Amino acid sequence: MAEHLFFGKVPVPYTVSWSGEEGMHVAPCRHAAGRRAICQGVARGEGRPLFGKPHAQRQREVIAEGLCDLCGNSLRNRTKVSLSHARPRANGATGLNILQVEPLLHKECAQISVRHCPSLRRDIRAGSLNIRIVTRHQAQFAIMDEIYTKQVAGAAVRAIGHAKVELLAWKDQTIEWLLGQPLPPEGASSIAEISNEH
Ligand SMILES: [Zn+2]
Repeated sequence: MAEHLFFGKVPVPYTVSWSGEEGMHVAPCRHAAGRRAICQGVARGEGRPLFGKPHAQRQREVIAEGLCDLCGNSLRNRTKVSLSHARPRANGATGLNILQVEPLLHKECAQISVRHCPSLRRDIRAGSLNIRIVTRHQAQFAIMDEIYTKQVAGAAVRAIGHAKVELLAWKDQTIEWLLGQPLPPEGASSIAEISNEH
């Protein structure tokens, strides 16, 4: 079980990098089937959280192992929520699908994320962030070329980069479904806690 970490009162997603996690390098990664991947130092909780900078291994881990972006625990047999900027695209073989870099979340973890993250609320208001229940998905890995890998990790080799979630079946949802209430007006300091049905 992943430990829940906070920065002040703000919950820090499992996948977020901390300032103590330095040292980009290339190494075999067990969350990329043992293949050569871009990796970084591991010291979760050390320094301060770098919101918006996913940790290389943990971002792959949650997507490859089916874990929640916020709490790092399994999504198996749970409602899986996508909060993503990605739009559906046509795929010749399977019809419409969505390819997103944002890992999936438990419903209650998606609620916590929206409550604590002003930029998520702004994007939901602007219509650029979509809320979806995901019923079928699979993991994919981006392969980075020599130039990119040299730049970020100092080795001129092809290597696995971030993982992506490919949504194969989903249902679009509303913020009212997620929060049990509409989004409060801009500038409202907090969103009321709501009890979760199980
Ligand atoms: Zn969770």
